[in-house]
Amino acid sequence: MKAAIISDVHANLEALLVVLKDIKKRRLKSIFCLGDMVGYGANPNECIDLCLKESKLTVAGNHDWAAIDKTDIASFNPVAAEAIKWTKEKLSSDGAKKLKGLELAQQVDNLLLVHATPLNPMKWGYLLSLEDFEKEFNHFDQKICFIGHSHVPVAVYQDDNGYCDLVRDNPFPIVAKRRYIVNVGSVGQPRDMDPRASYAIYDGNNNSIEIIRLDYNVPLAQQKILVEGLPEVLADRLLAGR
Ligand code: ZN
Repeated sequence: MKAAIISDVHANLEALLVVLKDIKKRRLKSIFCLGDMVGYGANPNECIDLCLKESKLTVAGNHDWAAIDKTDIASFNPVAAEAIKWTKEKLSSDGAKKLKGLELAQQVDNLLLVHATPLNPMKWGYLLSLEDFEKEFNHFDQKICFIGHSHVPVAVYQDDNGYCDLVRDNPFPIVAKRRYIVNVGSVGQPRDMDPRASYAIYDGNNNSIEIIRLDYNVPLAQQKILVEGLPEVLADRLLAGR
């Protein structure tokens, strides 16, 4: 199986369209979406529709749940909370219905798909340090777990002795006797100081994974955010990639 894994689109239609075009160009037939289709950006309904239409499997992110009151926004920072309030007003009844139907985790072949963490996806914890990743390997059985949530693409492996480390190559081979947690980065709001949209390609035929980065029309996405009266910082951060 060969598949594209996308995450954290965050209502950024410009970034999503570029990513989907690239996936089509590469003739990847399967897309899996790791959630946070909405929040922050100006096109929530369009992004929900496109993600669900194009993806074979989609899991819920914390912003998806917040937009339909399944997650309390008390834990959100003020800017994220304001964006969710705007999203709730903008969300179509069809969009809300689609978000309500999402599961927290999905499995396909030897892959686990989850937005935040395998251990407790509903807690929406962040895996940031190597230690954070290391603890999670005991809480799933699959060979590879794909996650999003932090908006920083990174891959960590654990060998069969329990030793964990960062994967430093891109693309990188999927090695026997190693398991992986791969954060695919964010389509619509990257935070690794690189403003380009991020997604991953899983190639189960050739045993490799690659993180892809793509330029998109950042000024247009920024302009839409400002026109909608969303917080200005949400436009600024797209260009900064943080
Ligand atoms: Zn997110």
